[in-house]
Amino acid sequence: MSQKSFILTLEGVTKAFDGFKAINELNFYMDEGELRVVIGPNGAGKSTMLDLITGRTRPDVGKVEFEQKTDLTALNESQINQLGIGRKFQTPSVYIDHSVFENIWLSLEGPRTVWSTLFSRMTGAQKDRIHEVLKTVGLQDRATVKAGSLSHGQKQWLEIGMLLAQNPKLLLVDEPAAGMSDEETARTGELLMSLAGQHSIIVIEHDMTFVRQIARKVTVLHQGTVLCEGTVDEVQNDPRVIEVYLGRKKKGHQACLN
Ligand code: ADP
Ligand code: MG
Repeated sequence: MSQKSFILTLEGVTKAFDGFKAINELNFYMDEGELRVVIGPNGAGKSTMLDLITGRTRPDVGKVEFEQKTDLTALNESQINQLGIGRKFQTPSVYIDHSVFENIWLSLEGPRTVWSTLFSRMTGAQKDRIHEVLKTVGLQDRATVKAGSLSHGQKQWLEIGMLLAQNPKLLLVDEPAAGMSDEETARTGELLMSLAGQHSIIVIEHDMTFVRQIARKVTVLHQGTVLCEGTVDEVQNDPRVIEVYLGRKKKGHQACLN
């Protein structure tokens, strides 16, 4: 029987800031090709978990391993990126004065400067690849407009396209639906689902309608550790999850699960 291999393994990972354990003995395993959604209250450690994967932060102890062979704790951010791990932050960062097409072009290959790219000749294969990426993210009819004139949602898709241009194995996406209209949110869900399989994807998200749309398996983080994992229904009905979110609601915080 063939066994799926893990694209990502976090085992016994702890990371403290001034004595406060933002990540606390975290164990997290992800299959290759999986689309995993990570939820949890504010301060649960979700962004720190991504920081630990991308090398932005180093664990105090524990294992962070890529494809069951590469120790990510021994590498820096750019080495980790070169392995095929791409991250999309919450706020889109695109080149607003360049066209949508140029933005993808600038992201195509390894590290280059804006000048060297714009003054180099584009190959037919590069052109095809740029159009393919634009089609995937639904921006093919926006290719020639300046990125700065796109809507918030379109900028987010462009940035996902810029990551895809590097053909990452693992894609980390932090709260993609934040600030999007319902329609944009639904289209983002479709996009992420279409990418799963060819890429492994971790999505951090609060919007439970969105989570329900895309999630196969959900991991609930709480106080830097996994509270539970399962389908959306399983985690929403888990008494520990209800306690964590209701506990917050009583204190006047907005509950994430509804
Ligand atoms: P989430 O993304 O789930 O809201 P974070 O990972 O951003 O949570 O934060 C988890 C906890 O770690 C928070 O209490 C936060 O204040 C703390 N934290 C995160 N990064 C740092 C840092 N660089 N320095 C100090 N504290 C941090
Ligand atoms: Mg966060």
